[in-house]
Parts: sequence; C-alpha cells; structure tokens
Amino acid sequence: MDRLAIVVPCYNEEEVLKIASEALRKVLSDLIGKKKISDDSYILFVNDGSKDRTWELIEEEHAAYPKEIFGVKLAGNVGHQFALTAGLLTAMKMSDVTVSIDADLQDDVDVIEEMIDKFHAGNDIVYGVRKERKSDTFFKRTTAQGFYKLMALMGVKTVYNHADFRLMSRRAVEQFSKYEETNLFLRGMMPLIGYQTDCVYYDRKERVAGESKYPLKKMLALAFNGISSFSVKPISLITGLGFFIICASVLAAIYALVSYFTGHVTPGWTSLILSIWFLGGVQLIAIGLVGQYIGKIYVEVKHRPRYNIEKVLSDEPEE
Ligand code: UDP
Ligand code: MG
Repeated sequence: MDRLAIVVPCYNEEEVLKIASEALRKVLSDLIGKKKISDDSYILFVNDGSKDRTWELIEEEHAAYPKEIFGVKLAGNVGHQFALTAGLLTAMKMSDVTVSIDADLQDDVDVIEEMIDKFHAGNDIVYGVRKERKSDTFFKRTTAQGFYKLMALMGVKTVYNHADFRLMSRRAVEQFSKYEETNLFLRGMMPLIGYQTDCVYYDRKERVAGESKYPLKKMLALAFNGISSFSVKPISLITGLGFFIICASVLAAIYALVSYFTGHVTPGWTSLILSIWFLGGVQLIAIGLVGQYIGKIYVEVKHRPRYNIEKVLSDEPEE
C-alpha cells in the first residue's frame, strides 16, 4: 500500500496549527481505515521561520502523535514556495505519494480522498482546482484571475484557478527535484514534468483563523516572478515595439516633409523630429536584440531537465 505524506508549509500559523493537525489526522485515519493508504502515512509540517509559537506547537503535536505528525524546521523565513519545496523534497525519500496543502484549511481536505483515488487510477499529478471564489474579496478575485490570464498571454502554462493544493507521486517529485532553478514558481513548473494528470474541484473556504500571509506586495512579487521565470516574451515585445516605431517613423517622415514643403515650420524641426522617431525605433530594436541574448543565457543558466522519460520499451530487462 502507498505511504502518503501531507506537506503543510506554515508561517506564523499558531492560531490554526492545532485545528489543521486535527483535521488532517482525521483525513489520514479515514483513508487508512478505508485501506487506501498505508498505516505509516503522516503529516509533515514545515515551519518557515515563524516568529510566533508555530514550531513549539509542531513539537507538541509530534510528541502527542509521534507516528502521524512530523516536522521540518527551516532556519529562517524563505517564503511559501521554498518552504513547500523543502517539505516535498524531505517527504520524497520517505513516502510514495505527497499532497501539499496550506495550513489555513482554505482548501477542502475532503477532496484528498478523491485525489488518492485519481492517483490509484494512474495519475502522477492531481491538481486541486477552485470552482469559484465566493469567499475571496472582489479585489483578490479579480487580481488573481487577471494574473492567470496574463500568464496565459505570456505563454506560461498553468492550471487555471489552481494554487498549490496538489497531489504528486514520488516519481513526479523526483523529476521536480531535478529542476534546479532558484526562482521558484511551482505552479508553472509542475505542468513541465509531464506524466498523466487530472484535476479535482472544490470550493475554497475562508481561513479558519489568523490572517493571510500573502499581502498584495507578496502577491505581486509572485506574479512577476511567475512571468519572468517562465517567459522571455516581454523581451520580444520590446523588439516588436522597436519595429513598430520604425514603421511609424515613415509616417512621421511623410507628415514632416509635407509640413516642410507647405512651408510653415520652424527651421530645424523636420530633421529633429525625423531623427527622434527613427533613432528611437533603432534603439528599441537594439535593446530588444541584446535582451534576446540575455533571455537565452537566462534559459540556459536555469539548467532545467530537457525531458522526462516515462517508460522505455526495449529488449533490455526493466530495472
Ligand atoms: N506561508 C509560508 N511562508 C510565507 C508565507 C506563507 O510558508 O512566507 C504559508 C502559510 O503559512 C500558508 C500558505 O503558505 O500555509 C499560504 O499562505 P496564506 O494562506 O496566508 O495565503 P492566501 O491563502 O491568503 O493567499
Ligand atoms: Mg490561505
């Protein structure tokens, strides 16, 4: 039977930790009772350098439930994406399948069972997707949806309305561990892994307690990181703009020459306006061109795996 690890990144979550622990332990015992996972499955709390009592609470929970509750303490606050990665890579060595979920229980723990079913049906990654966002404020909803659309426009493949509530098989996490980049945007990376995937749908709830650890500033940073880590399109846009300006400079030239010959312009204006338009376009193209090379260096430097072989059919015995 498969050993499940539920990975929970926590930053200043003292108000919700015990509630989360209880709810998730219940999910585990249900699944163990139904014989869907092995009885040594566990919950792994990752303390992301919390300033409050989060780590003490994790220690207490581990003491009370040594078989169910595990913990990882990071030396400082590194942010949600890194904390989650630390948890996944720790769990990778001691589990067959992982589910990542936020500590605040905004994601529906009841669909974890459905995720496991889909895993047993042969999926390596199962994405939790929000049906609607009634519980989010109008502001959070529109900004978040605008963000998903912008990502798609910039050519970044993501699963619409999926955050980081996700099941991953051991081999999916192992492949993910080969992505060595430092600018992490997990939502964009997972679709690159390949394998068979599926989605489960749920309604996102309100936080059980405490406040969001993702203020607007962090959200914008995540959005910008998502685009700049996955797409060099903004650079191509600059080159395109350069070409556009050069074409526009032809129109400006016609306009300036007509004005010149019809006679009422200040001396020097024609040559000045022509150089401004034309040189502006040339400069943008030049910057864009340099950018294209930097973009390539950027992609090379990331050193991502170029493919993921799922299966080989040959006359060699399988390992
Ligand atoms: N989190 C973290 N490190 C941080 C910020 C947040 O590990 O620096 C965790 C947090 O404890 C929670 C999850 O990331 O489990 C999502 O954060 P939150 O619920 O505050 O975000 P929101 O749902 O408001 O977008
Ligand atoms: Mg939340």
